Amino acid sequence: MRIAKRSPIWHPFTQHALQPDMTKVLRGEGAYLYTEDGRRLIDAISSWWVVTHGHCHPCIVNAIREQAGKLNQVIFAGYTHDPAEQVATELLKLTCPALEHVFFSDSGSTSVEVALKMALGYWHNTGRQRTQIVVMQHSYHGDTIGAMSVGSRGVFNAAYGALMFEVTSIPFPARDREQIALDALENACRNEHPAAFIVEPLILGAGGMLMYSPSVLREMKRICEAFDVLFIADEVMTGWGRTGSLFACEQADVTPDIACYSKGLTAGALPLAVTLCRADIFDAHYSEDRTRTFFHSSSYTANPVACAAAKANLDLWQQQEYRRRVASLARMQEQALAPFCADSRFANVRRTGTVTALELNTSDAGYLADIGPKLLAFFQARNLLLRPLGNTIYVMPPYCVTAADLDEIYAAIRDAADLLM
Ligand SMILES: *Cc1c(COP(=O)(O)O)cnc(C)c1O
Repeated sequence: MRIAKRSPIWHPFTQHALQPDMTKVLRGEGAYLYTEDGRRLIDAISSWWVVTHGHCHPCIVNAIREQAGKLNQVIFAGYTHDPAEQVATELLKLTCPALEHVFFSDSGSTSVEVALKMALGYWHNTGRQRTQIVVMQHSYHGDTIGAMSVGSRGVFNAAYGALMFEVTSIPFPARDREQIALDALENACRNEHPAAFIVEPLILGAGGMLMYSPSVLREMKRICEAFDVLFIADEVMTGWGRTGSLFACEQADVTPDIACYSKGLTAGALPLAVTLCRADIFDAHYSEDRTRTFFHSSSYTANPVACAAAKANLDLWQQQEYRRRVASLARMQEQALAPFCADSRFANVRRTGTVTALELNTSDAGYLADIGPKLLAFFQARNLLLRPLGNTIYVMPPYCVTAADLDEIYAAIRDAADLLM
């Protein structure tokens, strides 16, 4: 195929032959992005789920500015700094008491890789051979090889199968299949003695915004506990208010053995991730024998500027005002969604906390469905940043979005159905 326009930049999840032109963004403020061609877009997906309190929140920006002039990078092996220590202290206060250690990295994928290495290191260092990982159907945990291996297989990773390791997959616990999924988890735990079960609590994001109940999450934790299988909660997307509580596990009263947070950790301003773990996982690596060291690092582990942004974010979460915004957005989303429940052109109309999703009732389904690019173009023309997953449309805005913004978003979704179906 002749290349019509060669882009020097290779964009992520982008088919350049079908999407030759990128929208140039000059500025972000609150829920809005301002483009070079003079448009104002409503960022209805929080710029891929990272922006929580809005673009360029002044508290976050100031924290970054201040830290950048003081110490902007330092090796984190053998060295430490205030921003990292403050983030760790605050995080441990905010999360379950059983989580006692914080390991820093720089993306959701790396936080998952770290979690998997912690789990296998734990079993290895305590002299037990447990290596199998149990996963949930339709999961997404990132795009590095290990994170892909524990995620759903499909068109996204068909070319890389040779590099990926085998996992045991249990069905997604849809409303009518909860017991089937739980039985599958129990069987896997009983028969395979896995090292860990990794799961996105309450919402499977990239797998299609699939939602399941807190009671199932609680039951899955109970099963893992009964068989001594480590429970890894990947809260990279669900954390920081998305599901209505600060972390999704809170709603199920579940304490994970290992937890991954990223995306909203800096309110979406800078890349940073953490993997939290129980004391005995840290202890399994604690030894005068250097072979038992946790051998993991990335160059920018606990970058001070990113940590300063995270600290500012943690401070915001201390204020009731920011907790109230989550509750209020959840209510507004519920109201905006209500009319769609009775509209036969849509299916699986659903909401968990601040996140809504619905399917266009079309035979043209799946991630690569032709309706996908058409929807993308339609929303773009309406000055909305919405990025459907195939025929699944979802709305995950920053918490500062207004009711009027939501009206505009949902009116466009309704019009898209009028026009495209
Ligand atoms: C986005 C995401 C990841 C990967 O995070 P990156 O920062 O893109 O590497 C992992 N797990 C879940 C649940 C995610 O939504």
